[in-house]
Formats: sequence, C-alpha cells, structure tokens
Amino acid sequence: MRVDEPVTVGIDIGATKILIGSVTRQGDIIHHARYGIDLSTESSLKGSIYRSIADYIHGRREENMSVNIGIGVFGHVDFEQGDWLGTMRVPGMEMIRFRDDLKQRYGMNVAIDNDVHTAALAELHLGKGREYRHFLYVNVGTGIAAGIISDGRLIRGASNYAGEIGHTFVGRDMEQCMCGSSWCLESAASGGGMINRAIRWISDYPDSRLAPLIQSGNITSVDIFREARKGDPLSMKIHKEFIWSIGIGLVNLVNILNPEAIILGGGVMRDSWLLKELSDFIYQNTIGVSRRGLKEISLTELGPQVTGLLGAACLAWDYEKIG
Ligand SMILES: [Zn+2]
Repeated sequence: MRVDEPVTVGIDIGATKILIGSVTRQGDIIHHARYGIDLSTESSLKGSIYRSIADYIHGRREENMSVNIGIGVFGHVDFEQGDWLGTMRVPGMEMIRFRDDLKQRYGMNVAIDNDVHTAALAELHLGKGREYRHFLYVNVGTGIAAGIISDGRLIRGASNYAGEIGHTFVGRDMEQCMCGSSWCLESAASGGGMINRAIRWISDYPDSRLAPLIQSGNITSVDIFREARKGDPLSMKIHKEFIWSIGIGLVNLVNILNPEAIILGGGVMRDSWLLKELSDFIYQNTIGVSRRGLKEISLTELGPQVTGLLGAACLAWDYEKIG
C-alpha cells in the first residue's frame, strides 16, 4: 500500500518481542510486523534486532517513510548519544550504538529512549495526556516506573533516568530489590514483587488459596487480587500492602511535582476497584493545594499492545523538533 502521508517508523523492543510499525502523525498504525528477540547473548540480541529492522525497511520501501526512526527499549538509554547502554536481562551487555549504526545503514535519524518515557510521550501526543501540561504516566507491571511530563515536556534528568519511582523508599526490611535495597516500592507493589511475597509468606499461611498456584508456578497478581476480594488472608495482606506502598509512592510524587493527572498503565492495575482504592488513598493523603490541582487519576486508554510502538513514533516526532 502506498500512503501519501509521510509515516514514521516506530520500533518497540520488548523482552519477548520486537514490534515495528509505520505510524502517521494522527497515530494510525498503517502497517506493522512482529519479530522474535533473542536475549541469550549480546550478539544474538543485536543480530535479532538488526535483522528485524532490515526486513521491515526492505519490505516497506514503497512507503513515504520519514527519515526518522524512534526506538523504545527496556533498560538504560543515553538519549543524547542515541545508545542503548544495557539491561540487567542481558548480563555484561555492551552498549548498542543505534544512532550511529542506523544512520550508516539507512541514512535515517534515530531517537531512542526507555519504554516508560516513550509510553509517557504516547500519552502526551495521542492519549489522555493531550488534555494536560503536567501529568505522570505510571506503569505498574513486572516493575514500576513513571514518565514525568512537566510543562508539556518529558523530564529526563541528568542520566536520562528520571522517573524510577519503583526504587523510591516506602518501607524498611522488605524483600531485597534487584537494585540491592530492601526499602523499595517495587518489592511490595510490582507484579514480580507481590508474587515473591506470596512465595515467601506462604509458610505462615499453609491453607491459603494461593498455595496450589504457588506450587504449580502459575501465580499472577490477578490471582492475588481475586483471592483478596474473596477473603483469603494472605492475599488480603499482600493487597493491603500493595495499596499502602504504591499509595505512598504516588502521594510523594504528587506532593513533589504537583501534576494535573496520573495516568496508569501496565498489567497490574487493570481492575477498576484497585483504581478506586488507590485514588481514595492518594486524595486522602495529598496536601491540599496539590490535591486540588490533581484533576484525574485514571487508567490509560491506549492499548497495551500498541503503546510502545506509538510511543516510539512520538519520540521520533519530538526528536525532529529538538534533534
Ligand atoms: Zn530497588
């Protein structure tokens, strides 16, 4: 298909797949393809990414492609240089110089950022964030992180690492986080953290309805919240600490940043009753002026499958302006 409107190539590099798509300025995905990713070694990782990009670009030559590519990845990114610095999922990984490599191969300009930053940009340009100049996009999934939009701009910080709310301290003597601390929000409120807690605490609750799920290795945060609603004591304890911990993390962030909205995404926050409980906690505990400025706490309306792709394209558009 030939499109008259210029399209931008967005690349969403996730831990289980690579999604590449052609996106219009209105946020329509006119074509996309899904590829496998091989995280076993650094060279297999690099090989799977570059093969995917070559295949996609070769197959879409007839499109009126923009000279910009946006890439969203997990892990740490040097936004200024256009390098993927690494991820804990591929130990010993050396940086991948996306900007230099892709400029050389295809003559395209490349912007790269982490996937929470790109998701926040997707909200800013195409989602609920269009209505606000100051908002937080918070992803609660395997881990927890935030994209901070202040005065219409993404806050990146000195090392492009702003928004790591998952490693803010909300308690003490909790489970050890992968960052090394035992005080982190992620230990109590991420999907992985809650599952770790269930496994750790099950010996005190041998009759818990979570026991068979833990034994089969199939437990998820959805199971924990479902059983909490039915009155399972272990699930209720994990659920209570989830609301308490993420509530504290977000109250602190609201008191510091004074946003107009909090937009939540990620696999853990899908239930509307969790949203209600969390909203009540935040509104009850935030200081008055910040509370009155906070107009909305809601779930994202962008589909979880396409947020990364749209965000990567939005990053490329922003880069056009600043690059
Ligand atoms: Zn941590």
